[in-house]
Amino acid sequence: MDQCKIHNCEITRIYLQLESQTVKLVCEECIEDQGLGTKLDKLVLLQKVKKQAEELISKTNIDNSIKSFLSKLLKATVDDIKITKRRWNDRLQNMKLMIDKLINETESYFDQLKLELDNFRKGLVNIVNFSKFESLIKDDQQFDKETQIINYIKELENEVNDQKKTEILNLIKDYKDKIANTQIPSISDRLNSITLEMNEYQKIVNDYSKQCNPDNSLNIPYPPFISKILSSQNLQKLLQRIPNQNNKIQQIYYAQQLGINVDTFWNSVNNKSNLLMIFRSKNKIIFGGYTPCQWRRLQIQMQQGINDETYTSFLFIQTGEELKFFPIKREIKPAIILSSQSGPNFGNDLIINSDLQSGQINLGNTYQSDILPVSQQQLILLLGGQNQLNINDCEIIQIVH
Ligand SMILES: [Zn+2]
Repeated sequence: MDQCKIHNCEITRIYLQLESQTVKLVCEECIEDQGLGTKLDKLVLLQKVKKQAEELISKTNIDNSIKSFLSKLLKATVDDIKITKRRWNDRLQNMKLMIDKLINETESYFDQLKLELDNFRKGLVNIVNFSKFESLIKDDQQFDKETQIINYIKELENEVNDQKKTEILNLIKDYKDKIANTQIPSISDRLNSITLEMNEYQKIVNDYSKQCNPDNSLNIPYPPFISKILSSQNLQKLLQRIPNQNNKIQQIYYAQQLGINVDTFWNSVNNKSNLLMIFRSKNKIIFGGYTPCQWRRLQIQMQQGINDETYTSFLFIQTGEELKFFPIKREIKPAIILSSQSGPNFGNDLIINSDLQSGQINLGNTYQSDILPVSQQQLILLLGGQNQLNINDCEIIQIVH
């Protein structure tokens, strides 16, 4: 790739000035120097245009209906489709495993019930000497069968009401205990998670089909919301990963207004759920995380992990224009860790200290890397020096259901 002659940086975009019939090749620093950051409709990202011709065509002077369709279609990238397909196949496989497990549990449950009943009946037959009765009715030579049978019954009644009573009561107690201790397949536990997965599955499939044919999406999924830190395209990408869309979005914290310190932070987020936290470091790296879990500032000096049973929490890092996602692993580990003194902590993978400016990213404990892995080495390169975050801006958005 060419280098920019002014900044000696890589050329990343073409700046279209079609009214004067000129174009300029620019680097990211040119964009900042010349204040082009707001003119995204005139900037063609070279990295993208190779894969998606619409990146250029939608920004030229062409018929408005074609232009608008192409710019909406830009959101449907091959990478997104691959990622979505893989993630949701994984989820379907998880549901299949849950069902398989339930089938196995059901099988052994009924086997166990049958075994206990068999054992109970064997015990009962032994106690009441039932073989005597059986030989009575089998024996065809027997004279006066009815009398013999009634004698057997009288004897049985006497015994059961007398010396064999305890024996039978013990047998019943033993049977009841065994039935009570037989593990019943836990359907209700799983019903919730399967229903949740199914609902989410349906939603994401609908959303992606809309993205691939934007004319199908009659209603805009989100009210216009302008992030102070993220581009609207990347905000949209983040919001698409959050289930239960079509909800209200509101900014509940912005560091530049409220001050970047742990008290204003906790005052803003305390007892709130469904928060998307967006941070920007001094070297302009944007990162953050989302969790449906409720944030609480603990009163005493201790730590408390909160699990995300929906497995929808994720971390993200923006490199250039691209977002890298790190969804929570499907393991039972806390998605967030609450404390009294420090800032937010996403499963020890993203830790913000009490000054709300320093902290660390150590991916791989609780959150996994998605399709594009980022090594710890690359992270240190991105974040600079000692993996110290140097945050100078933060915005928190709440998704209200
Ligand atoms: Zn430049």
